[in-house]
Amino acid sequence: MANVLIIGAGGVGQVVAHKCAQAPDFENICLASRTLEKCDRIAAQLSRPIRTAQVDADNVPELVELIRAVKPNLVLHVALPYQDLHIMDACLETGVDYLDTANYEPLDEARFCYQWQWDYHERFKARGIMALLGSGFDPGVTNVFCAWAKKMHFDEIRELDIIDCNAGDHGQPFATNFNPEINIREVTAPGRYYEKEQWVETEPLSVSEKFNFPEGIGSRKIYLMYHEELESLTRHMPDIQRARFWMTFSDNYLKHLEVLGNVGMTRIDPVEYEGRQIVPLQFLKALLPDPGSLGPLTRGRTCIGCLIRGIKDGKEKKVYIYNICDHEKAYDEVGSQAISYTTGVPAMIGAMMMLTKQWHGKGVFNMEEFDPAPFMEKLNQYGLPWTEVTL
Ligand code: NDP
Repeated sequence: MANVLIIGAGGVGQVVAHKCAQAPDFENICLASRTLEKCDRIAAQLSRPIRTAQVDADNVPELVELIRAVKPNLVLHVALPYQDLHIMDACLETGVDYLDTANYEPLDEARFCYQWQWDYHERFKARGIMALLGSGFDPGVTNVFCAWAKKMHFDEIRELDIIDCNAGDHGQPFATNFNPEINIREVTAPGRYYEKEQWVETEPLSVSEKFNFPEGIGSRKIYLMYHEELESLTRHMPDIQRARFWMTFSDNYLKHLEVLGNVGMTRIDPVEYEGRQIVPLQFLKALLPDPGSLGPLTRGRTCIGCLIRGIKDGKEKKVYIYNICDHEKAYDEVGSQAISYTTGVPAMIGAMMMLTKQWHGKGVFNMEEFDPAPFMEKLNQYGLPWTEVTL
């Protein structure tokens, strides 16, 4: 039994609140975010009462005050990556464990990098507290799939392809399935993959292949991107010789993105407009549909998984571990589509691992550093069942 403070009342925060409320491990829940009404709206959907609060998670003294008032055992951060370090600072000051789903990004630079957060390791260790980084789906479950593959199937992992497919359709001309600013920064950044101890950079979305997804989803075009779990996985699993991350995009999505990029609407540097500074991407976010509004409109499924090649007992082996999540089923259960669902469920499970001390340590950790077995079991139990096939 434990107290949890959830920060962020967006698409993912809604799922986390629902899932924590379903699980008896979380005795007291407080949901805090920038806009109190959003917390209250979510609280009203839940099967049991929770506390809500307003907080600016960029303001460390405000966070510290909230943490001291709520007295959580864990701060579960599902606001935006810009807040990671501020919330970690507040956890250090108050001596409370920390969990997030996305690595820190500075506002003015779109760059996945764990180093900023790994640099907190000694301070968290000295304070006797734990931080679990990237407990969403990718990163998150994909890291756990890799740890599971290593434990159950391989003596040595050689090649890893993480493949993220959203085969759903929301019927809108252009919309992103999670925070548009974060999503577009990620997609328009250069591609990058790891091969033979080196990082190879590619032009944004310039490398693509076809992949045949299972269970009727079929063949889709996948695009090589850089994604944060590649950095931690290649560090913690040094036998990996090549690691790549792929995502599907519809031609329609790419066409819009190209035009928006060409006219400068995806820029993240401020420009002057009628005497004031505006960031084009933040303005674009204000125009695009709120991802939360796509929940009731989205049909179809996601399929995210790891295709892993390696060696077992001296022989080559290839294993594919994946989850398929249905947008409509997710919406029926928690009022959010599968993108938020597949992130929020692992965030809740990561919190459960920490609170029950099944995953325990002092310092800053990534998901693959712990025993994957209890996490894999909870995925099946809490709505993200997985399948593994030897190819
Ligand atoms: P949303 O934009 O829907 O929600 C973000 C929430 O954070 C909003 O409620 C927002 O408040 C709140 N917030 C923003 N800034 C602050 C602040 N300074 N103080 C307090 N609250 C703040 O995003 P999502 O729910 O889609 O995503 C949440 C996180 O999950 C992101 O970090 C994203 O990168 C991550 N993610 C991870 C994935 C994974 O698989 N690992 C996949 C998808 C997302 P307001 O409503 O007032 O704007």
